[in-house]
Amino acid sequence: LTAQQKEFQDTARKFAREEIIPVAAEYDRTCEFPAALIKRAWELGLMNTHVPKGCGGLGFGICDASLITEELAYGCTGVHAVIEASSLGQMPVVIGGTDEQQKKYLGRMTEQPRTCAFCVTEPGAGSDVAGLQTRAEKKGDEYVINGQKTWITNGGKANWYFLLARTDSDPKVPASKAFTGFIVEADTPGIQIGKKEINMGQRCSDTRGIIFEDVVVPKEKVLLGEGTGFKIAMGALDKTRPLVAAGAVGLGQRALDEATKYALERKTFGRPLVEHQAVSFLLAEMAMKVELARMSYPRAAWEIDSGRHSSYHDSIGKALAGDIANQLASDAVQVFGGNGCNSEFPVEKLMRDAKIYQIYGGTTQIQRLVIAREHINKYKN
Ligand SMILES: Cc1cc2nc3c(=O)[nH]c(=O)nc-3n(C[C@H](O)[C@H](O)[C@H](O)COP(=O)(O)OP(=O)(O)OC[C@H]3O[C@@H](n4cnc5c(N)ncnc54)[C@H](O)[C@@H]3O)c2cc1C
Repeated sequence: LTAQQKEFQDTARKFAREEIIPVAAEYDRTCEFPAALIKRAWELGLMNTHVPKGCGGLGFGICDASLITEELAYGCTGVHAVIEASSLGQMPVVIGGTDEQQKKYLGRMTEQPRTCAFCVTEPGAGSDVAGLQTRAEKKGDEYVINGQKTWITNGGKANWYFLLARTDSDPKVPASKAFTGFIVEADTPGIQIGKKEINMGQRCSDTRGIIFEDVVVPKEKVLLGEGTGFKIAMGALDKTRPLVAAGAVGLGQRALDEATKYALERKTFGRPLVEHQAVSFLLAEMAMKVELARMSYPRAAWEIDSGRHSSYHDSIGKALAGDIANQLASDAVQVFGGNGCNSEFPVEKLMRDAKIYQIYGGTTQIQRLVIAREHINKYKN
């Protein structure tokens, strides 16, 4: 790592251990949005890392950003989800925004501790993004948007949204041409923000449904041009997938650390748990898995930073890290025994927080579809 990478990693580590961990269980219990932690992360320069320098950001690549992400997620993946979802919301503007759009909307994120959101999923279309029903109809120099989005992280806390809507009503037009990406100010008339969802884990993050009813957006808010939205949205998901994987690795490492500390202290049959081979081997398995996941996502990040097609490595990194985070959280609960099932101990939260890593950012099954497709294509060509 470069001196700068180490510096950011250390800052994120210190922040996670000294400021996030002490309050994470309380945010989880109350489901309160961690506004104070987001403000602090922003002050420390740990947010908006990939915003171009010309817009007031750091212009970091995905490798750099993932080092910070892993550390923040070690502290609390709910807090990390807030920061990460904002990065995902910004990514379409990084990919397809004009200078003016970037300066206005990315610049705004760096001026104050703000978040934005990525509005793609709908009640009837999650994995099958091409099945989205939200419509944007062009009327003169404006678009009128109608539809419903669901599961939007930062839904009630966003300053603006990246929104994917169908602009071509002809069902024969392929997804690659039928959708358009918009920047939508969160206070635009016609936007109705739903209640905060109470989820299994990552409970301080703000997930909501949003209804768009006759929401008027000027044509200047279109990203890249009509019909390019699907490509932009998929590109944003591709570019941020290693960051989701890095978050899962942070959680996995925390599970291993908590389990090891506990196994050194807790005694059964007259000796510490670590002296029972079944437990020490379980810790060894956990260590093997977390190291494997940590080697996998940087490969994807490196492919992205090198400007290469990254889907294959993105999906391998995300699928491995998501599955491993779940295995490690469950193993950590096992090491804690009965205490592992109780919210007075840290691993119960880890197990609830881990599950979403196999769902958002593309489910574990969808990652396997991508890996299989990319793998098989190599043999066909
Ligand atoms: C807490 C949370 C936060 C989220 N944040 C956001 C956000 O900020 N922005 C946003 O746009 N979305 C967000 N999402 C939505 C998330 O990306 C979707 O939930 C996810 O993509 C899965 O879609 P779905 O829930 O509709 O499940 P479905 O697509 O209905 O899938 C159901 C099950 O079937 C499997 N499946 C589906 N199709 C196939 C197939 N072809 N082959 C094999 N298996 C298949 C899936 O893997 C899954 O196990 C969030 C979701 C949650 C729960």
